[in-house]
Amino acid sequence: MSATPQKQIPPRSGAAFKLKAGQELTVIDPLGGQVADLLAISAADIREMLSSGRTLDYAERIYLTTGNKLYSNRSNVMLEITEDTVGRHDFLLTPCSEATFRLCYDNEPPHQGCHGNLFHALKPYGIEEDAIPVAFNCFMNVPVDGATGTFKVLPPLSKAGDHITFRAHMDLIIGLTACSAPASNGGTFKPIDYVVR
Ligand SMILES: [Zn+2]
Repeated sequence: MSATPQKQIPPRSGAAFKLKAGQELTVIDPLGGQVADLLAISAADIREMLSSGRTLDYAERIYLTTGNKLYSNRSNVMLEITEDTVGRHDFLLTPCSEATFRLCYDNEPPHQGCHGNLFHALKPYGIEEDAIPVAFNCFMNVPVDGATGTFKVLPPLSKAGDHITFRAHMDLIIGLTACSAPASNGGTFKPIDYVVR
């Protein structure tokens, strides 16, 4: 399959683009240890979006990898994970936001975070800020204690060049970030690469 040129999202920023049904999106961690928040919205109706709750319900697991499907709020398959070199991603936590920095990081200057970056990238497609749901957090490492339900945000397990590939099951608008939260990447903000085939 022919591929578009590989693109780079600079540290602490975001991008939005179209992905047609049947196309594949590969999200690459070029330096290792960096999280990318991924959002998918139906190109036919922007009220249909990725749903963490429905996806985890149908998968019966919280760690998703190759073979798992990501569902919309209308229970349609939006994306399927077709390749995954890491095996640890998060679909529990919301995109980091200005409030995340206020509430979770005492010494960190506020930043609009992935939430703000997704909103600004998706605004031209008519997406409203309050509509942004939980994103699929590529490479985000959130181990959960099965007995108590407590969790920690730890540095990603991804090494330089690790990647995850998704196949689109419908025409989509994609939002993608290079995460802005220090806890998600061990305190060093790095870029995220992606390619569409
Ligand atoms: Zn983030």
